[in-house]
Amino acid sequence: MRLNRLRNLALIMMFVAFIVMYLSSYSTLTHAKAILLPIGLTIGTILLLTAVAIYFRLGAISIRLPQVICPHCGRLTKIMGKEDGCMFCKEPLTLDINNAGEYVVKS
Ligand SMILES: [Zn+2]
Repeated sequence: MRLNRLRNLALIMMFVAFIVMYLSSYSTLTHAKAILLPIGLTIGTILLLTAVAIYFRLGAISIRLPQVICPHCGRLTKIMGKEDGCMFCKEPLTLDINNAGEYVVKS
């Protein structure tokens, strides 16, 4: 679930970057505020590159993550860190056996 959340964050960052760049291009219509264009393009480019970097990093991390079968929905999911939620049903899962008592499997 944490993996999905970070992936969504990167996706939203990309959209924000496009919106920032698109809106800053409107400043070319009014000559007075044409200064916004380079600023908007720079911010947009930085956001976009950061989002792409997050995507690449997540791709590399995702290969090494342990895969478990969720006891709640029975689908294959990945756990990021010690505790994470199922990617599909958001069931809290843990890899720490000492901690497992806190989590009750709902039928
Ligand atoms: Zn599940």
